[in-house]
Amino acid sequence: MSENTVFPGDKIASIEEYEAGYNTFDDGDMVRAATVGQKDIDKTNRTASIKHPKMLSIPKVGDVIIGTVAAVMSSMIAVSIDYINGRPTTSKVECVCSTRNLRIRNVALANDIVMLKIISHLNGTIHAVINEPNLGILFTKCRKCGGKVVPMRDAIKCTECAWIDERKLSSNFGNSDFVNLRE
Ligand SMILES: [Zn+2]
Repeated sequence: MSENTVFPGDKIASIEEYEAGYNTFDDGDMVRAATVGQKDIDKTNRTASIKHPKMLSIPKVGDVIIGTVAAVMSSMIAVSIDYINGRPTTSKVECVCSTRNLRIRNVALANDIVMLKIISHLNGTIHAVINEPNLGILFTKCRKCGGKVVPMRDAIKCTECAWIDERKLSSNFGNSDFVNLRE
């Protein structure tokens, strides 16, 4: 490894001198690496980036991501990121999203497709939120039978077995454009 090799969280520049570029984040003071890679300091554009062998793309704070729910825990979900601001990514970076204050049974199920907004990078973990109208579940299935569900007021209802359940639905839920996006 060369002396340019950095690891996630490493300081690579001061934000007074450089903006956070690809695969980096700024912690309010320093630009830090969000992935393993080679430092790439662009003195002309004053951006500090990390070149990753696979061009791993790390979402920045404020980015909207679409991903697949990888795990559901008691107070958070882990999501494997598939799209960043509508652009596909194959890096399979994960973010976590707190569901503690939602007061919804089954905010999301594993393998649901969800839209989230990135709010922070903390200790190497990417944190996202779901509590805005456009954010939430884009695609889900019935928890009982795996059937197709339709929205019903604040809930969803299975068209196969009539099971009623809750999710934090996105205002884009049921938008067929999104189905095309997944292909
Ligand atoms: Zn069902």
